[in-house]
Amino acid sequence: MKVLVIDDSPFIFKAVKKALEPEGFELVGHAVNGQLGLEMVEELKPDLIILDITMPIMDGLETAKNLFAKNPDTKVIMLSAMGDADLIAEAKSIGIKHFLTKPFKPEEMLAAINSL
Ligand SMILES: [Mg+2]
Repeated sequence: MKVLVIDDSPFIFKAVKKALEPEGFELVGHAVNGQLGLEMVEELKPDLIILDITMPIMDGLETAKNLFAKNPDTKVIMLSAMGDADLIAEAKSIGIKHFLTKPFKPEEMLAAINSL
C-alpha cells in the first residue's frame, strides 16, 4: 500500500514513517502543503493519504475538496490537533470520515488505517 503524507511538519512525517514502514507500507512521498500534495497525488497515485488540517498555502480542507472532486473514493485519514473541533466539523461536512489526533501512537495510526 502506497502512502502519501501531506503535512507541514517533518516530525509528523517521521512519526508516520516509523509507524507504517515496519508494517509493510510504502511511504511514497511527503508534501508540506496541500498544493504540492495535489501534484504528488497526480504523480504518485497513492492508495492512502495522511492529510494535515493546518498548513500554509493550501490547508487540508481545501486539499480534501480537490481530492474528492477528482476521486470521491480517495482514502484519507485527517490529522487534527487538540482544539480543532470547528475544523473537524467542517472536514466531516466535506466528506472526511477518518481522523487521528496528534500526537498519535503507532498503534493508533494502524487502527485508523484498519478502520478504512
Ligand atoms: Mg500543520
